[in-house]
Amino acid sequence: MSIRQSISPQQRNALMDVLRLRLTSLEQHSGTRLEDLTQAQHAYQTLQQDLHDAPQRSGEEEVEAAVADINSHEFSAVTQALLRIHDADYGLCLDCHSSIAFERLQLEPQALRCTSCQTLYERSH
Ligand SMILES: [Zn+2]
Repeated sequence: MSIRQSISPQQRNALMDVLRLRLTSLEQHSGTRLEDLTQAQHAYQTLQQDLHDAPQRSGEEEVEAAVADINSHEFSAVTQALLRIHDADYGLCLDCHSSIAFERLQLEPQALRCTSCQTLYERSH
């Protein structure tokens, strides 16, 4: 088995618990239900496509309504993390591809970058 894994299955399970807890607390605040996750994911993907090919698409209002259901950037980020957590490259930095420290992921399971790359990213954006 040579698949590069940045975290162990146990760590992955621990992070999934963190993410689920966060979703639960977010949905308590926003009224968003876990059942909306699939819809939210679909809306997110549609939105991404919209950003890529600029022409207005029909159904845009539907997307906006669904995105409004997502209700917060954090909810979206946590949702994405739950979907990504099973990917082999989850826990690897988007920029330098080294492993993100598990301690960082525990605090921020939705983190896309290691601490140093995140700092650089925030400075340049
Ligand atoms: Zn990095």
